[in-house]
Amino acid sequence: MQPGCEEHWDTMTHGFLECPVIRRVWEWVRALYVAVVNEAGPPLTVEVLLCGRTRPVWQARSLWVFFRGLTVGCIHQARVRALHSGQPLSAARIACCIVSALRSAIKQDWLAATRCSAVRALFGVPRSSHACLRSRFDRRWRPGGPLCSVAGAVMTVRLTPASPVPVPLGP
Ligand SMILES: [Zn+2]
Repeated sequence: MQPGCEEHWDTMTHGFLECPVIRRVWEWVRALYVAVVNEAGPPLTVEVLLCGRTRPVWQARSLWVFFRGLTVGCIHQARVRALHSGQPLSAARIACCIVSALRSAIKQDWLAATRCSAVRALFGVPRSSHACLRSRFDRRWRPGGPLCSVAGAVMTVRLTPASPVPVPLGP
């Protein structure tokens, strides 16, 4: 249990949003979004974080959907682990889990786009489809920004626990 946080497991709203540890995670996620998109981050409300409302985040909706989904998944994992181990939740650990999940998602998306391109080329699918997959990757992950870079056929993930926004320290 967190000190000063007795209802840790009582409600979804507390466990996934209002718990001070979890709140620090969402604040970090929002800072990460702002660092990538360079516009105001979404409000940290039940509607946006738990119900998945995307209306206030038109600019980079596809990116936010990933950020939100992976964050909810990592919070859930951390809660289950804490429940079984009896160890307190850690914002740093949850944020590292999100970084790791985002890095995998970027790599998988790149692989899917490039592998599909190769397969499509084999079957003579028009080049416009390649451009479409690649532009989806570009729209979502914004190469050249803090998440990743692309040089020719090589994609490098830039996101780490230290950059562009260091994960929250401590519990
Ligand atoms: Zn709590």
